[in-house]
Amino acid sequence: TTPLLEVEGLQKHYPVKKGIVLQKQVGAVKAVDGVSFTVNRGETLALVGESGCGKSTTARLVLRLIEPSAGTIRFDGQDVTKVGGGAMRALRRRMQIVFQDPYASLNPRLTVGDAIAEPMAVHGIGNAASRQAKVQELLRLVGLQPFHAERYPHEFSGGQRQRIGIARALSVEPELVVCDEPVSALDVSIQAQVVNLMKDLQARLGLSYLFIAHDLAVVKHMADRIAVMYLGAVMEIGGKQALFAKPRHPYTRALLAAIPHPDPARRGRVTPLGGDVPSPLAVPPGCRFHTRCPFAQERCKLEVPQLRDVGDGQQVACHFSETLPDAGLDYSGGLT
Ligand code: SF4
Ligand code: MG
Repeated sequence: TTPLLEVEGLQKHYPVKKGIVLQKQVGAVKAVDGVSFTVNRGETLALVGESGCGKSTTARLVLRLIEPSAGTIRFDGQDVTKVGGGAMRALRRRMQIVFQDPYASLNPRLTVGDAIAEPMAVHGIGNAASRQAKVQELLRLVGLQPFHAERYPHEFSGGQRQRIGIARALSVEPELVVCDEPVSALDVSIQAQVVNLMKDLQARLGLSYLFIAHDLAVVKHMADRIAVMYLGAVMEIGGKQALFAKPRHPYTRALLAAIPHPDPARRGRVTPLGGDVPSPLAVPPGCRFHTRCPFAQERCKLEVPQLRDVGDGQQVACHFSETLPDAGLDYSGGLT
């Protein structure tokens, strides 16, 4: 069977212009710079990377909230970038988003019931009465009480508001849910509850998730596969177990080493990354990670490493991934 979502060579460049009268393009912000991945039915693909790596832009491109500069996005075999009007509306219903900040994404003047029912109304699903019945069912599904429908978002905690955001996304029965850092704004104690709810909903409803996060700790209980992004490109992609057990890209290793290990003696001792992420306006030539990579060599500054298969369904974009020092470190971050 074909994957539910297939993204190929996806690019989003924003031209940078200079001059007051005759605006001349002097460069481009390469927010997303040639990204490819698939999301299979019923699975969770996590997109992980530091802020500014292009993961949220990728999410918005997939949902066609913004238009790509290049590349294709196929949803259930249909090219999302080429369909218009009614066909796009039909596709939109099948892919929904859960935002990072559930408060900012909920209209404070709508009751929770109306907020959850809104996407159904937009897509012309049911009538007022059937939508209210569905709201009650959705509230129960996400672990809230049906009477909460009459209340307003400010009356709820962050975790409850994210449950409301999830209920709203699920109201139109999507197949793909794009989750843009859905737990990053929540207390750590609440994060696990929301992640567990999302896993439970996935199993019950057969959902596929594109799950965006800025660190690997959040996705270790959630992801089936993980794509690690840096400065607009995928550095490594693979199954979660393989990626945690044998990370092959220096950037993946650095991200994993940042996860607190329950046993400090077994924590991956990797030199912390120096410096900041370069500006997407000035992506370094060659390997875009070379300015921060402890293993960079001359070739890295000249030649762009392509993503290549290294077995076990893992792909890595590093010239030297086979010969990097390993020293038997445990990068698993306590994943068992
Ligand atoms: Fe580091 Fe070179 Fe590999 Fe890039 S290609 S990650 S700079 S070793
Ligand atoms: Mg973001």
